Amino acid sequence: MIAILDKDCPLKFKAEIVRTIEGAGFRVQVSEHNDQSIVGVIGLGAEKLAGQLAGMPGVKEIRPVAPPYPLVSREHHPGQTRVKVDDVTVGGPSLVVMAGPCAVESQEQIMTVARAVSAAGGVMLRGGAFKPRSSPYSFQGLGQEGLELLAEARDETGLRIVTEVVAPDDVDLVARYADVLQVGARNMQNYRLLSAVGEQPNPVLLKRGMMATVDELLLAAEYIVAAGNPRVILCERGIRTFETATRNTLDICAIPVLKEKTHLPVIVDPSHAAGRRELVPALSRAAVAVGADGLIVEVHPNPDAAVSDGRQSLTLDAFAEMMDEIRTVAGAVGRSLTRTTTPDTQGQESVVRISG
Ligand code: PEP
Ligand code: MN
Repeated sequence: MIAILDKDCPLKFKAEIVRTIEGAGFRVQVSEHNDQSIVGVIGLGAEKLAGQLAGMPGVKEIRPVAPPYPLVSREHHPGQTRVKVDDVTVGGPSLVVMAGPCAVESQEQIMTVARAVSAAGGVMLRGGAFKPRSSPYSFQGLGQEGLELLAEARDETGLRIVTEVVAPDDVDLVARYADVLQVGARNMQNYRLLSAVGEQPNPVLLKRGMMATVDELLLAAEYIVAAGNPRVILCERGIRTFETATRNTLDICAIPVLKEKTHLPVIVDPSHAAGRRELVPALSRAAVAVGADGLIVEVHPNPDAAVSDGRQSLTLDAFAEMMDEIRTVAGAVGRSLTRTTTPDTQGQESVVRISG
């Protein structure tokens, strides 16, 4: 349930409304938009407060029907959330490009990729240290050694690190090294893991499960925010359909649909969608054109020798070429690419505030 307050509702009325909700044992989410406050009442049975709130000074309207994910829904929080990763902003006017290998394989490999990503204008380095593989016999990642190599690459290049965490028990370890924790498609509905990344402060990149609907993705994001961490970035990475020409089907519709339903930033992973590197630049251009806030792309110095996902990994040169194309498309839709070398001018981080 949400309470829409009068425009310019005095602070003392607002405080009384919040006190009433909290006093009744519910959590409060307040968001401001165009001088108007929207107060979300979070918790089972919130409707029973409707009558009391409707009669309070400063309350314009009570809307009982609300989506099942109040914390992440745009209805509760019409403004766009910007997630800051140090001085990089995801969800602002500039697009954020994250790139790197599927898996961290060696010091030479990750340093070579990091330098190339940075030179081409990427601002974050991806690379799995813990890999969720379909087969138990496939390479499972270098573990902590991989995290140390990523940190070394960050120290040299200044790129922020995004890397996957696959188990609740690993969250503390991964959070010590990573700037952004990735929850992969296979774990989108691992609710213990979602709560665990919600209980630590670093931003979370949440990938859509390959068989998950948009609403299921939003409910997964709700778990993270409800556990206390509002810094969530969503990622469309292709879903399973009857089509076999590509590894997955990039659900391009999901980007504008998510923009409609949620205030969280949305990025696209064209690599896991396509499964073939030839298709990655076209899907990246499409993602930017349709309104994505950024991209996460697989890149490898020698894709044919990669231990995982080589077929879909761009060469370093192809990545640099693609960045030029992305820049053009971004300009055409009124956006630009975030650069590491320019100071952040996009202001404060804006995320929902939750109490309780
Ligand atoms: C990855 O990013 O390498 C990965 C395993 O992605 P997804 O979870 O989307 O399959
Ligand atoms: Mn991969």
